[in-house]
Amino acid sequence: MMRLPFFLSMQSCPRRCIYCHQGEITGVFDIPSPEHVEAAAASATRPAEVCFFGGSFTCLPPNRQKAYLDGILKAPRGSTVRLSTHPECLSPAVLALLASYPVSMIELGISSLDDHVLSMCNRGYSGAVALSALESVLDAGFHGGAQMMIGLPGQSEESSFDDLRRLGAVRKGRPLTIRIYPCLVLKNTPLEELCRKGGYVPLDVDRAALWSGRLLILARELGIPVQRVGLQESATLGRSIVAGPHHPAFGELARAAELAFSLAAVSSSGPWQVPRKAMSLLTGHRQYGLRLLACRTGLSPEETARRVVFAGNTETNGKFPDERGIDGTLSWE
Ligand code: SF4
Repeated sequence: MMRLPFFLSMQSCPRRCIYCHQGEITGVFDIPSPEHVEAAAASATRPAEVCFFGGSFTCLPPNRQKAYLDGILKAPRGSTVRLSTHPECLSPAVLALLASYPVSMIELGISSLDDHVLSMCNRGYSGAVALSALESVLDAGFHGGAQMMIGLPGQSEESSFDDLRRLGAVRKGRPLTIRIYPCLVLKNTPLEELCRKGGYVPLDVDRAALWSGRLLILARELGIPVQRVGLQESATLGRSIVAGPHHPAFGELARAAELAFSLAAVSSSGPWQVPRKAMSLLTGHRQYGLRLLACRTGLSPEETARRVVFAGNTETNGKFPDERGIDGTLSWE
């Protein structure tokens, strides 16, 4: 299904989260009107998933929400709408309104469930409130989404693992998907100021990838699908980042870390059977996954490579296609 994304940059957010500047993230500074959304939906030639991201959709005045939602009804039959919103704006009346439209998913910004972290980020509510909001979404029969973050001020890895376990506990087999975003320091945010004063030290790319890799393993164990790791690149994002773990293929690094941790847990010396489709996770980005696996097992990267067997393609066993060889030093080595 095609996607029609609309960014309602920070519209109706109850307060400013210290790390957020949606305009800088998405490059979209103008808020589309309901008429604009309606015209775009009407011009779609096949069913579309209309997405409202970047703001707090259900905190908008009800008539404004309705105007946007009515607009998407002009899209071809079979079209759906997905929206992201704030945990404090999900009353029974709001959920009843959404239930009268073809809503495919309601995503909540659940950057953390740790009250200390939430307070440091100026989120303005407790973890219990966020969990209750997510539960109300799932109870109402919607597919829920949780946008988690890592590397936030005051946040530890264990705190984010607790968050994920709590999400798993409210899920109770119902449809829930998560996204994982590393915290970046963007221009013109309170976090930039905090960082400059020395009150916040951002993660580096390696540390964030390893953290994400561990979260991915836990999500897999809990049976929670992960839709995305890392922010979508945009024309402005790279220019807006002052500090933090920005990498254009961050999601691949995180998946590579997940794979390397998983293989090392299966055996500390191999041989390891790896599906061919996952080969690039070990070989890409200067053998990032392979070097991580070597680091975890204590084997040399060359010996590690020899002990990897790619299922379904014997020609590449033990030979990594990157002609540059195994090089590079990881900052955590
Ligand atoms: S993180 Fe979400 S709730 Fe916070 S200011 Fe940004 S868009 Fe609004």
